[in-house]
Amino acid sequence: MSTYDVAVIGSGPGGYVAAIRCAQLGMKTAIIEKYTTLGGTCLNVGCIPSKALLDSSHHYEHAVKHFADHGIEIPGDVKINLEKMIARKQAVVDQTTGGVEFLMKKNKIDVFEGVGAFKDATHINVTKADGTVETVEAKHSIIATGSKPSTLPFIKLDKKRVITSTEALKLKEVPKHLVIIGGGVIGLELGQVYRRLGAEVSVVEYMDRIIPGMDKALSRELQKVLKKQGVKFYTSHKVTAVKATAKQVTITADDKKGNPVEFKGDYCLVSVGRRPYTDGLNAEAAGVKLNDKGQVEVNDHLQTSTSNIYAIGDVIKGAMLAHKAEEEGTFVAEVLAGQKPHIDYNLIPGVVYTWPEVAAVGKTEEELKEAGVKYKSGQFPFRALGRARASADLDGFVKILADETTDEVLGVHMIGARCADLIAEAVTAMEFRASAEDISRMSHAHPTFTEAIKEAALAATDNRALHV
Ligand code: FAD
Repeated sequence: MSTYDVAVIGSGPGGYVAAIRCAQLGMKTAIIEKYTTLGGTCLNVGCIPSKALLDSSHHYEHAVKHFADHGIEIPGDVKINLEKMIARKQAVVDQTTGGVEFLMKKNKIDVFEGVGAFKDATHINVTKADGTVETVEAKHSIIATGSKPSTLPFIKLDKKRVITSTEALKLKEVPKHLVIIGGGVIGLELGQVYRRLGAEVSVVEYMDRIIPGMDKALSRELQKVLKKQGVKFYTSHKVTAVKATAKQVTITADDKKGNPVEFKGDYCLVSVGRRPYTDGLNAEAAGVKLNDKGQVEVNDHLQTSTSNIYAIGDVIKGAMLAHKAEEEGTFVAEVLAGQKPHIDYNLIPGVVYTWPEVAAVGKTEEELKEAGVKYKSGQFPFRALGRARASADLDGFVKILADETTDEVLGVHMIGARCADLIAEAVTAMEFRASAEDISRMSHAHPTFTEAIKEAALAATDNRALHV
């Protein structure tokens, strides 16, 4: 039996980062992963492959719609080779998961391939594909078993016509009509991929707006822009039935007034969220409690009900995001090493990688209103930027919310080109408790998209934006 200071169960961004940090801090570390590749949801069927397809489809759209504006002429038709596009995506995934394998070796972390199940609080049985079982003994364990796509109780995911994001990342044909249940991040990103490739795309959303967790202004702008791109939206629609035949799916929903509406498509993507995954973990044997949402219950130190076992990432409360899982992985490793790390959950940014990209950090306007906080708001449109005009990325804006009295930045909400990267400036500013005026007085290179942040900060300070 192999004995370790720490055993990490699950090799997603939470698990593998936790393992690396534990190893860096001198702990003898093992990682247990049931799949043959490391990297979890994010690298295999999440963040990385979805971004690869978003990029490929973006190139195609540019070639078809925008090259001519730039004076680039392509003789003949631009065609899609979906098989090649999917193969490229897989190559990106393989390189990235291979990178994690390399990092495990480099940090002398032992990798166990198989399903990890607690025998007791210090022993984990790892059942390999051939049925053999190896036991790992560990002083401390970190549960990082992530999440799986969830569904609605009456929907049968046949994974052929009624699919999850995992199947949507490897379709063999471009759907004629893709009906997406759920207007959240994953549904919209994959919806945009297939819309660009020529599918008719309909998004059916229960709430009265898409990306409901984000600032309302972002929901409105994203819906407007995606609508221009041809995506159809049916908000305030409650799906009541999904029926699939060999070639067609019929989705029935009640509209705002309660009248039934029918959607017929050749594929239905169910993207109604993800559920924490603890199947086969045998958490009870270690005394690890789950809450009524199926999440592993943790305290402020991310310690479970069993003191030597910790949990991180999608399997616990909080945003289901790779970078949140990574922060928690580092946090637990440092707690185990006797350090006093800290995570500010208010400063974990949220991003939608559609184009235009959407990104936010801190409080939304709705949250500030509800909390009774007095705030000022400054907004600046991308279309007023020289950089945006140069690349014809005119949609979107940056909105900065700052405390009315102290001017401290409380929330930054943006939609537009490269916002996924731009949001880092807002996170840095907020981490150092900058005021809107602090940002407005920093030099921002010209011409860049970052100037929209400076201008929004000027607008929030004293309505002093320069270029509107
Ligand atoms: P996971 O990545 O889910 O990893 C858990 C691992 O544990 C898996 O490999 C699983 O096989 C393994 N495991 C489970 N049980 C056992 C067991 N008993 N024994 C051994 N191994 C086990 N987030 C972002 O921040 N940015 C994005 O752009 C983004 N895009 C996404 C796109 C899609 C299509 C999807 C589905 C998700 C996306 N996410 C994104 C979310 C992100 O993937 C997750 O938040 C992240 O992967 C969570 O990391 P984790 O380490 O908690 O778990």
